[in-house]
Parts: sequence; structure tokens; C-alpha cells
Amino acid sequence: MLLPNLNREIVLTFLGTGTSQGVPVIGCRCPVCTSTDSKDKRLRTSAMIETSGKRFIIDAGPDFRMQMLREGVDSITAILLTHFHKDHIGGIDDVRALNYVNYPQRIQNIDIYAKKDTIECVRKDYDYAFSNVRYRGVPLISLHEIPSSSFTIEGVEIIPIQGTHSIFSVTGFRIGPIAYLTDFKSIAETEVEKLKGVSTLVVNALRFSSHDSHFSVSEALELISRVSPQKAYLTHMSHEIGTHTWASERLPENVYFAYDTLKVFNYF
Ligand SMILES: [Zn+2]
Ligand SMILES: [Zn+2]
Ligand SMILES: [Zn+2]
Repeated sequence: MLLPNLNREIVLTFLGTGTSQGVPVIGCRCPVCTSTDSKDKRLRTSAMIETSGKRFIIDAGPDFRMQMLREGVDSITAILLTHFHKDHIGGIDDVRALNYVNYPQRIQNIDIYAKKDTIECVRKDYDYAFSNVRYRGVPLISLHEIPSSSFTIEGVEIIPIQGTHSIFSVTGFRIGPIAYLTDFKSIAETEVEKLKGVSTLVVNALRFSSHDSHFSVSEALELISRVSPQKAYLTHMSHEIGTHTWASERLPENVYFAYDTLKVFNYF
């Protein structure tokens, strides 16, 4: 007799794995931008985490619409924002479609969670969604400020992980055995402690050479070795990283370059 499966499944989908310009870069004729390998086509960085019947989207950049269409998403539990750069918040207007799926039976307000500075930026960039006189069809959004400690959304625990991104602050997220960090340049030891015990760690790695506001590959690998997850994936790559095939040969065991559409399954 089969024993009941008491483990909960959690699925991470990479919606986009490219840096702010995406890959290919407009007008670029380099070997990465002209590659025919689908793994060298990177939409702006975003991820989807699904567990316990809930669906979380981390960041909603300019490719949000294409990412939702590609994955066939028709409802989401919440959007978690890492920071206010346009490649992470530039697609928020497109939540309008999700607001009106199954209209008129149901109108879904979209809950967006972020730190205070990012909330202020969303309120400014999308002021028409928050004005007293709203025209028909504006995005229906509820903004929620992320506390400094763990919090729950519909019964799912989210642990915020703080880092710095040049002169800005950035927030990563741990949900169960998965932690997802993007646009980090540094992280304090107290925050690294919150990552201990994860099965899957996602870390940004812009390129092999160093950069003033993003981890390079070697900086990402250094953090991965401190956390020591079962598997780690790199994201937010520039075309300067080289082709997926070439760059993948330069990674240690159990560390992989993520690519758009990749799904990672975990149980906890
Ligand atoms: Zn970014
Ligand atoms: Zn290029
Ligand atoms: Zn950024």
C-alpha cells in the first residue's frame, strides 16, 4: 500500500533570466545576441513560485505580459517586488488583464508586496491607478509594505532577505526550501544565516567580470558556497556572460545557469 505523500510540493518557474536590457539586446550582433539556442533568449528577470495552491510572482518587469501568456497564468496570489528598477516593475500596468478574468463574476484586485521605497515608486509611476478620480480600466492594485521579519500571505510564510544593490537596497525572498535573490551586490552575514538549509538557491550573476551593482559569477559562487544548498541557479545574466553552452562549462557541480521556462521542483 502506498503511504500518503505528506510532503508539500513547491515549484519554481524562471519567467525571465536576463538583465535590464534582456537578451538579445536591441541592435547587438554579438554571438550571444545572434545565437539560435533558445536558452540564449532571456526576458527580463522574474520568477513564479507555486505551492499549496498559491501562486507568487517575483517582479513584474516589461516582459510581464509575455511571461503570463507563455505560462498560461489566469490568476495570482500576489506579486513580490525585489526593488524599484524598471526591469522589475515596468510591467505592472498589465495586471489589468488579471483584474478582469471571469468578469463580471469576479474582479481580482492584485496584491503587491514590497519595501517602502519600492511602494512609493510604484505609486508614483502608476499614479493614475491611485488617484481619487480613476478612469475606467486602470489597474486594480493593493500595495502592502513588507515587514523586516517573516510574514504570511494566505498561509504561506515568506522570509524577506535584505541586501544592497549599489546605493539601493534590494529584497530577496525565501519560501520554504527555495530562496531567490536578484540584483544583489552584497549581503550581510545575518541575512546569509536566513538562507541556511535551503534546497534551491537562486542568485544573480551578471557576467564573469565584476560590476559595481550586481554580483559577478565568482561573487555569486562565493555566496553559494557559504549557503551550501543542494542546487543553485544563476539569473539576471547579461549578453556579456557568453552563450549558455559556453558559460555552463565554467560552473562547478550543482550550480547552473537558469534559462527562461526552466522549472525546478522541491518538496518540503
Ligand atoms: Zn535588474
Ligand atoms: Zn549582444
Ligand atoms: Zn536593479
